[in-house]
Amino acid sequence: MKTLQPKPVASYLAAVPDAMKDEPLSGHTTLRIGGLAKLFVVAGTNDELIAAVEAAKRLDIPWVILGGGSNTLVSDDGFEGVVIMAGNRKIVIDGTCIVADAGAFTVTVARQAAEAGLLGFAWGATVPGTIGGATVGNAGCFGGEMKDILTTVEAYDVTASKRLTLANDACGFAYRESRFKREPLLVLSVTLALKAGNAEAAQKEIETMVSKRKSSQPLGEASAGCMFKNFEYTDASALDILKRHVDEVPSDMLAKKRIPAGWLIDRLGLKGMSVGKTAVSGTHANFIVVQNGARAQDVIALTSMVKMKVRDDLGILLEDELRLIGF
Ligand SMILES: Cc1cc2nc3c(=O)[nH]c(=O)nc-3n(C[C@H](O)[C@H](O)[C@H](O)COP(=O)(O)OP(=O)(O)OC[C@H]3O[C@@H](n4cnc5c(N)ncnc54)[C@H](O)[C@@H]3O)c2cc1C
Repeated sequence: MKTLQPKPVASYLAAVPDAMKDEPLSGHTTLRIGGLAKLFVVAGTNDELIAAVEAAKRLDIPWVILGGGSNTLVSDDGFEGVVIMAGNRKIVIDGTCIVADAGAFTVTVARQAAEAGLLGFAWGATVPGTIGGATVGNAGCFGGEMKDILTTVEAYDVTASKRLTLANDACGFAYRESRFKREPLLVLSVTLALKAGNAEAAQKEIETMVSKRKSSQPLGEASAGCMFKNFEYTDASALDILKRHVDEVPSDMLAKKRIPAGWLIDRLGLKGMSVGKTAVSGTHANFIVVQNGARAQDVIALTSMVKMKVRDDLGILLEDELRLIGF
């Protein structure tokens, strides 16, 4: 990584007065891993978010946006640039619509929706991080995904330096994918359309989902959720090697043409496999849990080992779900 020189650092600090130097990123990710960000700023409004990025662009400083850091692995060497954290957290509910700033916590949006008697986003109460991060990754669980409830995204095109409103079908949503992952676009805020219902039913749905989560995921340990995407296929021959190795692939997986990565990892008996202070969770095989002092390079080594084993033994190439900073 190219070292950032003192002059652009000083110019950035002058241009963005709230920016800080040498901020440990381990405090801003759920994995609690990561070196220093040379520059770090929390942007409290959409305008601040844009200004923080524009200043980086003008000074030719590498930049990256961070939401809740719950889907991100930061290098042990940190980031020689500016990490801009979305701290714009306004949420407005109008009838069955919710407009939430990118930095609003997904859990808060889901809980406020439920309190307002709105249905369709209870699953959001089980997803850490921000609604901006959830939009970028088209987050989802319990059969719901962001793309099912999102109507528009207020975005900022960093290349063209202009704001734009993107309708759902212009966001390139697919399974854990969106165009925001591939293009220099900031998510400023999102509009969600939910269904009218009643607060009691909505809250009950949340509590059911939260308790399911508690029993199936290692929530007391540091992690970044699922490390790999579930394996989706169109051609049944993609499972030829897998079928030779396991007695039976459950029919619901075959019907959906989607094999959960955790199920594959579990079939190989990899729960508990560890590198340094990181290990494949014993509770959920698609989670890597880490102890204090774990290193990013150990997470990379462990995920690589898991991927190689699944590829070599089951003929399936797993794709990372995790986003990387500073590698
Ligand atoms: C215990 C646990 C359970 C989880 N369960 C689920 C689950 O059920 N389903 C699921 O889908 N995920 C799950 N995750 C993963 C994670 O919580 C989600 O992917 C979440 O939506 C990420 O949001 P974030 O704000 O933390 O994103 P971050 O990790 O901060 O960022 C993710 C990516 O989005 C980009 N980004 C963030 N905000 C913006 C913005 N405003 N504009 C442009 N780019 C932006 C970042 O640059 C980065 O590339 C889980 C994680 C944990 C730790």
